[in-house]
Amino acid sequence: MNLSDPVQFVKGVGPKRAELLEKSGLATVEDLLYHLPFRYEDRRNVIGLDQASVGETVTLFGRITGAREIRMRGGRRTMLQATFADDGGWLTLVWFHQASYFKKRLDADGEWVVHGKIEASRRGGIQIVHPEIDSVAEGETMADVARIVPVYQKPTDIPVAAIRAAVERAVQECADQAASVVPPEIRERLELRPIAAALRDVHSPASDVEPFALAQFSTASHRTLIFEELFALQTGMNLRKKAREAIAGTVIAPAPQRIAEFTRLLPFTLTGAQKRVIGEIQADLARPHPMNRLVHGDVGSGKTVVAFAAALQACAAGHQVAVMAPTELLAEQHFTTMRPWADELGLYIAILTGSMKASEARRMRDLIAMGGVNIVVGTHALVQESTRFQDLGLAIVDEQHRFGVMQRAALRGESTDTLLLSATPIPRTLSLVLFGDIDVAFLDEMPPGRQPVITRVIRSGQRKKLYERMAAQMAEGHQCYIVYPLVEESEKSDLKDATSMAERLAAGVFKDFRVGLLHGRMKSSEKEAVMRRFKDGDLHVLVATTVIEVGIDVPNASIMVVEHAERFGLAQLHQLRGRVGRGGGEAFCCLVADEAQSQESIERLGVMESSSDGFEIAEADLRIRGPGEYLGTRQSGVPAFRAANLVRDAEILELARAEAGRWLDHDPRLELPESAELKRAVTDRFGDKLALAEVG
Ligand code: ADP
Ligand code: MG
Repeated sequence: MNLSDPVQFVKGVGPKRAELLEKSGLATVEDLLYHLPFRYEDRRNVIGLDQASVGETVTLFGRITGAREIRMRGGRRTMLQATFADDGGWLTLVWFHQASYFKKRLDADGEWVVHGKIEASRRGGIQIVHPEIDSVAEGETMADVARIVPVYQKPTDIPVAAIRAAVERAVQECADQAASVVPPEIRERLELRPIAAALRDVHSPASDVEPFALAQFSTASHRTLIFEELFALQTGMNLRKKAREAIAGTVIAPAPQRIAEFTRLLPFTLTGAQKRVIGEIQADLARPHPMNRLVHGDVGSGKTVVAFAAALQACAAGHQVAVMAPTELLAEQHFTTMRPWADELGLYIAILTGSMKASEARRMRDLIAMGGVNIVVGTHALVQESTRFQDLGLAIVDEQHRFGVMQRAALRGESTDTLLLSATPIPRTLSLVLFGDIDVAFLDEMPPGRQPVITRVIRSGQRKKLYERMAAQMAEGHQCYIVYPLVEESEKSDLKDATSMAERLAAGVFKDFRVGLLHGRMKSSEKEAVMRRFKDGDLHVLVATTVIEVGIDVPNASIMVVEHAERFGLAQLHQLRGRVGRGGGEAFCCLVADEAQSQESIERLGVMESSSDGFEIAEADLRIRGPGEYLGTRQSGVPAFRAANLVRDAEILELARAEAGRWLDHDPRLELPESAELKRAVTDRFGDKLALAEVG
């Protein structure tokens, strides 16, 4: 058997299971080999039933003395009840799923190891529901089965024991074929384990292993596999970055006079961070290689000014600039903000969106192609193939995380300078992985005079008080947002929706005020009209979905209410909260959560009450929800990991990054024989994922 063989080659895996495994990403023997347990079960302490008590999780050793399938009330499904006995007593084993599968298994003679939690059964006696059971091989004793057992993620229809057996076979037969990507010099210095031994250890831990280290995935063998994976990834990132830095690009000379002219137009002075980041961008643009810079700045940190300063430098050198935003609303707002600046500075700025009339859009595109426009603001319509620039010098992508990676790639030629703006602060570990190959700058200083938005998590029952407070604010001339998770009522869900709530509120508690509705399914012209009315103060309450999440700037708004707050990510809530308190006065954010909430949501929402720092919030979100959910792995371009976990392994990631850099200094093209495996891994295994990450 070889590492690249399909899983069906593994004994015991038939075509049906092979298909299920393949669907969940386990296609080859190698995939199985690196399918690490997500937890371990300590079965070293096998006890007799005479010592077992209700509520305990136990491992037992004995025989099945009978099993019968029982039809469940009112349905076609059956359950299975089996009697298990050892020298000290007996209990009932219960399965509500896969009854006939387990019945067949239990019909085999011999002894069994049973693991699970003992409960009192309703008919008296004791039972274990959905126990783990393993048959004991001929001649095996209690001492042999007392061990630490790995537990694997698996497709629902594959039994626990079956996936365990398949992985075990792959390890037995193929662990020795696994190759290390880490050069020997580093392996020795970091005291990494031989790779085959590490694989064997993590799949079937020795019985003298330190249980705490095992539970934390911090045994020497775990750390070896995690390092292997992150080292290859960081080597790839580093190589990508170097490759890009070698590409020839345009030199765009700094234009300090123009930027000074611009800042004189502003009613405020730049923050230190704005000055610093503008300086960094200036230097980037002046280099004869394409800029690839990401600016992270919390909501309200003043990214628009920074973006315009960059645009100005490109325009001063005679190039065109594209400014891309994720929504029409935001594109329109950028256009509105930048137009007066452009007018004053003698630049022609235009807007291009998907909802423009075809003829109008065509005319605009012609003008852009002829070089008649200096700055083009738009949505992704901007990047469609029909848009040709005469001389695109700089592409600015606002709220870059909202775009698919491919769209970003399409806008930007290999050699075009690119500036990415993000208001979603990303924990450092994630940014190393997502953006390990681009330059990151932090706009980490808020303009002066901002007060933190006072944030409270409230239960639905306290809503009445909230409405009174809103009414009081509005009577003083302020405005409010209420955000709902749904656009319209849905039969499938009992979540509140924006459309019917807008009607209800307008006819009920807020009948003395004007209530507007804004959601993503409205036509862009309608949305704009509503936004304009809200901005002009003609509407008091804006009932909306998360369309208002990004960019919207209405300084007079002082209360943000988010209904079903537990449904939103913290980063998103932070964005929403950033919509209020922009006028300098006191502002409130109320997160309304359903009565029944998990401990996790309470903890999560509590972070919003105690912190107004976007980076801190992002860290907490990542920690509580884990990296998978945090960004939605597929779209975000966060590579899927086999051994590593970005929350847990931040330290190893830093180490891998440093070691990868050092190794590439020593062997920049991975030409040494000891780099051969690393080179193969970087080009093969991570190839396409790195290509995605390249877009950043
Ligand atoms: P974001 O980083 O969220 O995109 P914006 O660029 O929209 O932030 O800026 C938010 C608000 O802060 C705007 O009204 C802008 O005019 C204002 N602003 C930007 N820079 C400064 C500054 N240095 N001092 C005071 N206000 C500023
Ligand atoms: Mg912005």
